[in-house]
Amino acid sequence: EPHHSIMNDIKKGIQYAFQTSNNMTLAMSGSGHTAMECAVFNIVEPGESVLVAINGIWGERVAEIAERMGAKVHTLFKTPGGHFTNAEIEQALAKHKPVLFFLTHGESSAGLVHPMDGVGDICHKYNCLLLVDSVASLGAAPILMDQQNIDILYTGSQKALNAPPGTAPVSFSERACHKMFNRKTKPVSYLLDMTHLSNYWGNDGKPERIYHHTGPVSGFFALRESLAIIAEMGLENSWSHHTEIAEYLWKGLEDLGLKLFIKDKDLRLPSVTTIAIPEGYDWKELLAYIMKHHRIEFTGGLGPSVGMVLRIGLMGYNCNKANAAMVLAALEDALKQCRKSKA
Ligand code: PMP
Repeated sequence: EPHHSIMNDIKKGIQYAFQTSNNMTLAMSGSGHTAMECAVFNIVEPGESVLVAINGIWGERVAEIAERMGAKVHTLFKTPGGHFTNAEIEQALAKHKPVLFFLTHGESSAGLVHPMDGVGDICHKYNCLLLVDSVASLGAAPILMDQQNIDILYTGSQKALNAPPGTAPVSFSERACHKMFNRKTKPVSYLLDMTHLSNYWGNDGKPERIYHHTGPVSGFFALRESLAIIAEMGLENSWSHHTEIAEYLWKGLEDLGLKLFIKDKDLRLPSVTTIAIPEGYDWKELLAYIMKHHRIEFTGGLGPSVGMVLRIGLMGYNCNKANAAMVLAALEDALKQCRKSKA
């Protein structure tokens, strides 16, 4: 059937973008949050222990989602901009013995890209599954699902992939499938139940795909095209392009006398740059000035980073030198016009 071949193309595209050979690879009907909830709802049973790394808004959200479905939630905490060492992660895994550990790869509220090396191995040592959010980072910073032993990885369609919002690629390892398809209780959500979704996507080996829900068909066509474009470009080229533009932006910001919120260059997320709010300025006034006079939308922080940072997103199609230069010119002007008189 023709729509099956469209869906199969999407599955192959996600396998490439995630660098995985997982059979249980599909796109959720919904935004990034849908994949987030799908992963937690299907992997975790009520009463089971979950460990969530919180260093910005996304860990906060996952902790709340897990709490709502009745998990025993433990957290590892850093203020925005912070990251976790493998030793800290290992200590928490040994203490709480969770079935699932959540980590955000591209923390878009803080502008941090979290180191991934070794995390999967540590989780497996403690018989824990590793769930990673790459909504803001996929295509912009390297993430290699199979090589890094990530059990569940998801992203969004509307960031570096450039597709319209409304679909969310997700993939589950064999170990994740073993856990979620051998549950005692049914997942709390019917719509996000992977037993049904895996059949819908032709991943369960059954000869027939049975109606489960109506997929966002136009969104799937667009996602398929965006995955084809990134495959044609090549992941390495996409990563290096985002890094090159980000470095140009970072240099320009420092030349304006601004301080980047993430000091260590290797920990900066290329797709979302965070600037420490400059002294002597009201951040809301800076954003309003740039919107009014330059028609560019900058944002402040998000969740726990509100009042700490200004954020600039340059990703996918939007990621180019001309846009970075435009942003720098707007900031330069705003810094001249919005300075508070310091008596
Ligand atoms: N995780 C991260 C890291 C994000 O940046 C976002 C969106 N800003 C989400 C999850 C949520 O995605 P969505 O808005 O598509 O539900």
